[in-house]
Amino acid sequence: MDEVTCPYCEEECKINHDDGAFYNENEEEEMTCEHCDKVFMVSTSISYYHEGSKCPCKNGEDHDWQPQRGFPKEYYEGRESCAYCNETRDTYTPEQRREAMKRLIDLNK
Ligand SMILES: [Zn+2]
Ligand SMILES: [Zn+2]
Repeated sequence: MDEVTCPYCEEECKINHDDGAFYNENEEEEMTCEHCDKVFMVSTSISYYHEGSKCPCKNGEDHDWQPQRGFPKEYYEGRESCAYCNETRDTYTPEQRREAMKRLIDLNK
């Protein structure tokens, strides 16, 4: 639940988003304090959160290949994705892939 502190009485007021209010960035909207009934302006700012993580495979080191999991598992078997850079690779030969696809099609029969 979003709350804003009333600049008059310093009580927390719940923000009511029901009618889409208070979602417009850089736009002030007025609000009435539920505690002291004074009207004040609320401005909204949307902040983005960024986090850096190491990516050795982009710096000359090996990818960290992890088996991909998903559904149907016949589709994902033999496929791997890198835990660092999200690159994917297929470890199957074309024959193995054909086999896996056949099993997948058989399942759907
Ligand atoms: Zn107040
Ligand atoms: Zn990688």
